[in-house]
Amino acid sequence: MTCDCQHCDCLLEFDGEHAGKAVECPKCGKFTVLKAPTSYKVKPSNVGPNSIGMKILKVVIVLVLLGVIASVLGGWWANQSRFDRTMERLSK
Ligand SMILES: [Zn+2]
Repeated sequence: MTCDCQHCDCLLEFDGEHAGKAVECPKCGKFTVLKAPTSYKVKPSNVGPNSIGMKILKVVIVLVLLGVIASVLGGWWANQSRFDRTMERLSK
C-alpha cells in the first residue's frame, strides 16, 4: 500500500504490517507516520458480503426454479395417475 509523506508530496510504498510506524522520508528526510489508506481496508470487506449475497441469491433462484419444476411435474404426475385410475374404473 502507499501513503503520502506528511511533509512533502512524496509517495511512500510500504507493507500493511508497517502501518502506523514512523519512517524517514527518502525525499525530504523528515520522519513521517505511515498511514494505511482507509479505502484499502474498507474495499475488501465490502466486496466479500456482496459476492456471498449474490451466490446465495443464485442458489435461492435455482431452488425456486427447481421447486416450480417439481410442483409442475408433481401436478402432472398426479393428474396422470388420476386419469389412469379413471380409465381403469371405466374399463371394468
Ligand atoms: Zn517527505
